Amino acid sequence: MPARILDGTKIANDIKAELISEVRALTEAGTRPGLAVVLGGNDPGSEIYVRHKTKASEELGIYSEKFTPDDDVSTEELLKLVDDLNRRDEIDGILVQLPLPKQVDSKRVLLAVDPQKDVDGFHPLNVGNLSTQRPGLVSCTPAGIMEVLRRSNIPVEGQNAVVVGRSDIVGKPVAMLLTNANATVTICHSKTRDLPGVCRTADILVGAIGRPGMITRDYVKPGATVIDVGINRIDSGDEFKKYFAGNQKREQEFAQKGFTLVGDVHPNAAEVAGALTPVPGGVGKLTIAMLMANTVKATKLRRGAAQMAKV
Ligand code: NDP
Repeated sequence: MPARILDGTKIANDIKAELISEVRALTEAGTRPGLAVVLGGNDPGSEIYVRHKTKASEELGIYSEKFTPDDDVSTEELLKLVDDLNRRDEIDGILVQLPLPKQVDSKRVLLAVDPQKDVDGFHPLNVGNLSTQRPGLVSCTPAGIMEVLRRSNIPVEGQNAVVVGRSDIVGKPVAMLLTNANATVTICHSKTRDLPGVCRTADILVGAIGRPGMITRDYVKPGATVIDVGINRIDSGDEFKKYFAGNQKREQEFAQKGFTLVGDVHPNAAEVAGALTPVPGGVGKLTIAMLMANTVKATKLRRGAAQMAKV
């Protein structure tokens, strides 16, 4: 039986539809959520991401402001900008789009973001909140993965989960979320021995590696749920054939655009998996929806707490 496709586009749209009424209620209560996006330099990829993020804010009624310092911006100038945004009450979320220009000390800039406004969930305080199960802001892509599992009725408690990748922004936080949801979790990385064998123990297998099509059918236990986080651009014909030979829809797309996207999971994994997220149209769609959800959550956590303190 072919794998069930977990439709990230639909799940993201459902989340956004739910957020619209929350944003409306907060706005009527005089606390309209506000998101500031800082785009330093002119990385073309970042410009596209930021455009999608500000468009999603507008669709949901979230107030958004974009800051575009020049390519030669200094660390000190960005620290000043972040400090100003930290102080503004109507700004609930601050997103610093990475990568920043090379002369900038990105770690210092990210550390300067008020943890209550850290809608990317990258601040060490939020990482600590996650690991100690305290309320806080959780990194968007990992939070989106949990929404895919929850809304697709895929059980997590008691399941064996294997996460391939241990980055601070995806691998580690998703492993922590799965642990908090009572899965038994194994984290793999480039030094893991017998990776295919470890992966085959997984009821839930998450690929967050950045290597096109690395997780083939040989890594997948029959019936497992496979979550593909990778987004890899393919623009050579030979590479294309390795993944999509005989797939007419992809062939047309490749002929028209000159490129296509493949995840870290090889399409042949669908022959064995019970369910999987596609690329595109899977986890990637959730990242922006969860950024919006985090902005709303930040508004409630910070301004709700401030109102309670006044009572
Ligand atoms: P990183 O490069 O930060 O981390 C990659 C991880 O994969 C590392 O832990 C690395 O191990 C591990 N790895 C690399 N090669 C191998 C290998 N041969 N065998 C086993 N493990 C390996 O990547 P990110 O976590 O930032 O991103 C991963 C992927 O997810 C990328 O394709 C990225 O584009 C995508 N992504 C998608 C998002 C979305 O919205 N859908 C958001 C963020 C990322 P080690 O630590 O030992 O080096």
